[in-house]
Amino acid sequence: MEIPFAESYKIKMVESIRKSTREEREHWIKNAKYNLFNLRSDQVYIDLLTDSGTGAMSDKQWGAMMVGDESYAGARSYYNMKNALKEILGFDYFLPTHQGRAAENVLFSVLVKEGQIVPGNSHFDTTKGHIEFRKAHAIDCTIDEAFDPEHIHPFKGNVDLTKLEKVLKEYPKEQIPFIVLTLTNNTAGGQPVSMENIKAVAQMAKNYGIKLLFDSARFAENAYFIKIREKGYADKTIKEIVKEMYQYADYATMSSKKDAIVNMGGFVCFRDEEVFKQASTYNIMFEGFITYGGMSGRDMDALAVGLDEGTEFDYLETRIKQVAYLGQKLEEYGVPFQKPAGGHAIFLDATKVLPHVPKEEYIAQTLGIELYLEAGVRGVEIGTLLADRDPDTHENRYPKLELLRLAIPRRTYTNNHMDVIAAATKNVFDRRDQITRGYKILKEAPILRHFTVELEKL
Ligand SMILES: *Cc1c(COP(=O)(O)O)cnc(C)c1O
Repeated sequence: MEIPFAESYKIKMVESIRKSTREEREHWIKNAKYNLFNLRSDQVYIDLLTDSGTGAMSDKQWGAMMVGDESYAGARSYYNMKNALKEILGFDYFLPTHQGRAAENVLFSVLVKEGQIVPGNSHFDTTKGHIEFRKAHAIDCTIDEAFDPEHIHPFKGNVDLTKLEKVLKEYPKEQIPFIVLTLTNNTAGGQPVSMENIKAVAQMAKNYGIKLLFDSARFAENAYFIKIREKGYADKTIKEIVKEMYQYADYATMSSKKDAIVNMGGFVCFRDEEVFKQASTYNIMFEGFITYGGMSGRDMDALAVGLDEGTEFDYLETRIKQVAYLGQKLEEYGVPFQKPAGGHAIFLDATKVLPHVPKEEYIAQTLGIELYLEAGVRGVEIGTLLADRDPDTHENRYPKLELLRLAIPRRTYTNNHMDVIAAATKNVFDRRDQITRGYKILKEAPILRHFTVELEKL
């Protein structure tokens, strides 16, 4: 008999989670004004709101926390983090920051100027926010296949080189501070970028004299997909692949809450000493002195260990196979989602799961609420609420896809939990003909409304 797959770790400490009754959940979600962000975590059984900072640290990481050095300047923990970044990513210069968007803030304060253009593959929302805040523009050059949920493509995060070259030809290089490669492409569904595509983008950047930034949050998951799916990489270790990827990067920004498996932290990496020096001033202003930048010593130590563990094949295989396991179950049940399953999440195709809810009544949000009512599972809407209103017309902007993201925290839930999620989703899908109405907005903020919006059931 073939030996089945199992996790590459065992459990040393557990945290209780509470099941609830449907009546309780009906009461709680109503009080939360039908906004999943307003629920207390105790009211959630399986929390798939995000995989950011919600993972479980290992015994080695907790051990490293105990020997953290809290010196203001030149802490040992800083040097441990520095060594890890040199060893794993190959950068000489870096600045710690409190999270990923802070890394963007520090780097972009040096590089991004009003009126500039930043091409890339589906810029993450904070990345886009930091570009637009400086009155510059993000241009999405992701391949078209990324926007067709049923289309199977091994590297749906790839940059369309024709689209990219068009941008590089249209604008002078002084107007393009860098190209950003998001690894994996979160917005497109945790979809990876191939090494071939990374190389081609880097070559094009070089030809046009433009720098290349890696938005690195899920770089290790990206390396795993290269190993598994791309020709010529099967025999390379994840660390070898990561090293090869980063040869092509001039800068890297990182949300360590993702693939460095810590609860808080981030960093910026630089090849260029001059840009590092300029960014250091912003780091001191916004984050903290350059040897801690918004992180405590113990957190830098945990991060250094997390980067090492996060780039081990066994860990990544366990993680990504868990997401794929949930995908397989949903596939068996005929529930439509973005395919293939991404590295960190399943994106349910809400329009197909709930075909009778009108788009004016927030389809993906309706699905999110139904799934919560069904089994206490909390996902997050990636649809019309998130897309917000047009700043000029104040009309709702309806995105190409209405998605409910089920993000899987690292090393946190078992496959039994995946079974619960899949069954709950199936039950909602099976009664789709009875779900014909959604919600209307009672109150909303002028920007980023999805965090605080208040809704009423129709
Ligand atoms: C999470 C994330 C960020 C921002 O990081 P925070 O730590 O949440 O500030 C940037 N880019 C990508 C691709 C991300 O997933």
